[in-house]
Amino acid sequence: MRPPAAPPSEALLREIRVSQAVSRVRQLPTVFVANPLLAAFIAVVYWDTVFRTLLVLFVATMIVLWTPAILSWRRLRNKARPTRVSAGNERRAMIFSGSAGLLWALAAFVFYPAGGSEERAALVMLLAGLCAGSVSFFSSSPKASMAFYLPFMLMLLGQSLTFMEQSPVLPAAIAVFIACALWFTRTSWHQFVENVRVLVDRDRLLQEAKESGVQLELMLSRMSDLAMVDELTGLKNRRSFFDDIDPIIAGSRRRGKPVAIALLDLDHFKDVNDTHGHQIGDDVLREVARRIEGTLRQEQLVGRLGGEEFVVLLPDTNPQQALVAIERVRKAVGETGIPVTGDGEVWMTVSGGIAPLGDGMSVSVAMQHADKAMYRAKALGRNRVEVYGAVEEAVR
Ligand code: GH3
Ligand code: MG
Ligand code: MG
Repeated sequence: MRPPAAPPSEALLREIRVSQAVSRVRQLPTVFVANPLLAAFIAVVYWDTVFRTLLVLFVATMIVLWTPAILSWRRLRNKARPTRVSAGNERRAMIFSGSAGLLWALAAFVFYPAGGSEERAALVMLLAGLCAGSVSFFSSSPKASMAFYLPFMLMLLGQSLTFMEQSPVLPAAIAVFIACALWFTRTSWHQFVENVRVLVDRDRLLQEAKESGVQLELMLSRMSDLAMVDELTGLKNRRSFFDDIDPIIAGSRRRGKPVAIALLDLDHFKDVNDTHGHQIGDDVLREVARRIEGTLRQEQLVGRLGGEEFVVLLPDTNPQQALVAIERVRKAVGETGIPVTGDGEVWMTVSGGIAPLGDGMSVSVAMQHADKAMYRAKALGRNRVEVYGAVEEAVR
């Protein structure tokens, strides 16, 4: 099931308002030219039928009303790409279209009954043209469209009804026209809504792309974690252990302090697998890792080399101090049984070998020494820790 769509963002709503305004601005020249022309035309047609002062007033008001609109249009047009339409702008547009509509309604109210049939026909045609213009002009904003053409169309309809007896065609035509205009407004509104939906969808897709980008980042960081961490025990794996020890060794050497390295290998671990199964073997490995890490100090780095073998780097530590630390580890591993699910306890012991990492000595040489010491511990009966030294040197 799709999650419920998030409400459109502020930025998206702003974009919608801008696209509304831009589509209106595109239609402005037609309307600006048409309105004063139509007003002038009415003045000519009705010059002999109504008070001329009234006509002059009408045309003057038209000009006064449209001048600020033309100026603001020029301002908007000069902006290559408007990015912002303020709420004040919106309000002004509504007031402007509403009062223009009312003015035309007033004109229809005054002029229509005053004219003969020719003048009336001319007026209706004019208003129809004006109406059609306004519908396309405000097509992205049906409220503004209604505010503009509904008042004068209704007025015209009301007026023409009083002439019903003389000519039923006129009110009928006007009624049909209003219906058509409403229908057109509705259609263009749907079209506009469709455009908005495209914007909303695009916004959502962008959002989703961003989110999946974040997920990808998480995945990548988890992958790089996985590359560093031994999945079974959570300790450093072989690679990341050896990657991390160089600066620690360098630090100790700079301070003139010794460094020791220790290898730990579980005793007869194969038996655990053979007796309890691989799964429990894994549980035991996890618990041993936990005990090793829990016993060592923060700065003593521990890693899993693989299988049941672990490695520890002990900075600022001489072999004797390392022996104390690793003895503690040995005891922590072997002193208490490891509870295993459904199978009671498993008792584990560990053998260890320690070697100093002398000045200028490479890590791999020190590892070989620690390995030798560890095998001595195995040979001497396991569950013990040996330090590389005189014995190994003697047999070299
Ligand atoms: P020793 O005292 O001589 O070290 O005997 P050991 O049995 O511990 O040594 P050996 O090297 O013969 O066996 C190690 C066993 O560890 C063999 C292998 O099946 C098991 N092992 C290695 N990796 C894993 C692992 O990730 N999980 C489990 N459950 N077992 C493992
Ligand atoms: Mg082993
Ligand atoms: Mg072993």
